[in-house]
Amino acid sequence: MRLPFVAGNWKMNTTVSEAEQLVVEMIERLDRTEGVEKVLCPPFVSLVPISMMLQGSSIKLGAQNMYFEAAGAYTGEISPLMLRELCEFVILGHSERRAYFNETDEMVNKKVRAALKNELKPILCIGERLAENESGKTEEVVSRQLRKALEGIETGALNIAKKLVIAYEPVWAIGTGKAASGKQAAATIHFVRDVLAQIWNDGIAQDLRVLYGGSVTSANIAEFVSYPEIDGALVGGASLKADEFVSIARQTAEIKGKKSS
Ligand code: PEP
Repeated sequence: MRLPFVAGNWKMNTTVSEAEQLVVEMIERLDRTEGVEKVLCPPFVSLVPISMMLQGSSIKLGAQNMYFEAAGAYTGEISPLMLRELCEFVILGHSERRAYFNETDEMVNKKVRAALKNELKPILCIGERLAENESGKTEEVVSRQLRKALEGIETGALNIAKKLVIAYEPVWAIGTGKAASGKQAAATIHFVRDVLAQIWNDGIAQDLRVLYGGSVTSANIAEFVSYPEIDGALVGGASLKADEFVSIARQTAEIKGKKSS
């Protein structure tokens, strides 16, 4: 049984006081929503105050990025050692980082390994661009991104299925209002598990949570989480509205709860 999962990626939005206000607006309702793991990923500068606000709640905290070195002369970067005092999760390989900050598969691999080594749980983002989708290259891209990001990662000692979450996020669906269909997303996520089974084994592929991300809202979340392959969502824009994000978490818990009972 995989515990459903919803994460809100606030991206480069909210000042510290706006972030605190957003937490105030959702904390009680989100905390009460059971049967789904809930993670908020605010900007770095809000991690400290929000970590304090979330103490004693069931809501977890994640960062949006991380450098792979532990410390040193890397002006402006944030290390796994800094994050692990504050959060449990870290988003890695988001397509915006790949597109605007030239993150390569090799860098993503270094980051995933550094996160795991430092007891941080990566939310690893993969997904194809529009042209790749249109030319039938989705599986090729997703397979390459997965194999490279996970290269050299041992499974046994790390209990990888409990520590890693994969987010399949087709780039053309992120922030565009044009979500993939549930059927499309489920088919690719099925393929993601086939690749994970080849990299490691079928047990790990079945235990590991795989999310969909790309223009998820309270109006379309049901379409995705109704598929058994899709364990939840990585949510961008809609996670900046308390009512929306709470509804996404509630619907996920409800639909997955019904399916398992
Ligand atoms: C994201 O940032 O990971 C994302 C899926 O964004 P949006 O929900 O806004 O498309």
